[in-house]
Amino acid sequence: MADFIARENRYDHLRCPIRVFDRGGYRHFHGGTSAMTDPRFSQILPTMQLRVNSSSLGPFKQCPRKYQYEIGTGLRSRRPNPHLIFGTLVHSGVEHYDRERLAGATVDQALLSTVEWALRATWDGKLNRPWQSENPSKNREGLIRTLVWYVDQYGQSENLETIILPNGQPAIELNFEFDSGYQTADGEAVSFIGKIDKIVKLGDKFYVKDIKTTGHEVGGRFFAEFSPDNQFSLYSLAAKIVFDFAVEGLICDGIQVGATFSRFYRAPIGRPDTILDEWLRDSRHWLGQMESCAREGYWPQNDKGCGLYGGCEFRSVCGARPEAREGLLKMAFQTLPPGGGGEVA
Ligand code: SF4
Repeated sequence: MADFIARENRYDHLRCPIRVFDRGGYRHFHGGTSAMTDPRFSQILPTMQLRVNSSSLGPFKQCPRKYQYEIGTGLRSRRPNPHLIFGTLVHSGVEHYDRERLAGATVDQALLSTVEWALRATWDGKLNRPWQSENPSKNREGLIRTLVWYVDQYGQSENLETIILPNGQPAIELNFEFDSGYQTADGEAVSFIGKIDKIVKLGDKFYVKDIKTTGHEVGGRFFAEFSPDNQFSLYSLAAKIVFDFAVEGLICDGIQVGATFSRFYRAPIGRPDTILDEWLRDSRHWLGQMESCAREGYWPQNDKGCGLYGGCEFRSVCGARPEAREGLLKMAFQTLPPGGGGEVA
């Protein structure tokens, strides 16, 4: 163990204990402002998030209004997002495969178990039929094919070693929390939280492992989009601060999913300490902006963010007269329980 621990961890001062959510406590949530009942938020300034994940900081950086709708209020489109569902299923499927392998299953046994898992995961028990995706590629058939071909690609020839932690558990699906170094004017510390897919070893180097699916071609341009990148920088820091691994950055499996094919590319994405230091410093600036919005009770529109990532789903709302927006939001969106729309940790 000792040889791969970061011996002098420059981020030691940002360590803090992980607090675990009791999801059962959400059972009586009846909608309304998620920030009022979400334990990630301050009791003193209820619209200020004190435990921030990449799925919260990212939308805030894109547009404070989007953050207020998605995170502060918990709004989600009534139309399911096939890209989000598919990406989550691929992550979970690969995790299932990894766990089977680590429990001693052969590649074939683990694959069979994973396909069975995927068939069950995409069965809609209420409607007694398979998951019906609106997307011609990111659907049930595409999921099964992607998982089978993923194992064909990496199963027998996998050269990434999954780390076993000192407690004997594999370094898979690791919840983390560490101090951001930012304190609100009320003296409350803001921490970063999240969940890492996996920490792996390649040769004598350590990496966080992640998977990204896309409908577009995967190559140099695809991987270049992750430098800089909010989530990847946060995960690299978490591996160093919380788990004590001197990671080089991430290894990303990019998967292009077409209607009849899935293609796989793997690339390292570096995160030197100087880049991570800059990300931390910038993040404190963004958290300061978040606090300013929370104190003012106003989350401005960033109209340069509307066209990003295929177009913001709130565009029809933000483009309408302010007095018409509440009705539009009620029609097209539902309010999810706190933390119900994404990574919570
Ligand atoms: S449509 Fe534009 S202004 Fe409205 S929430 Fe989205 S990014 Fe912000």
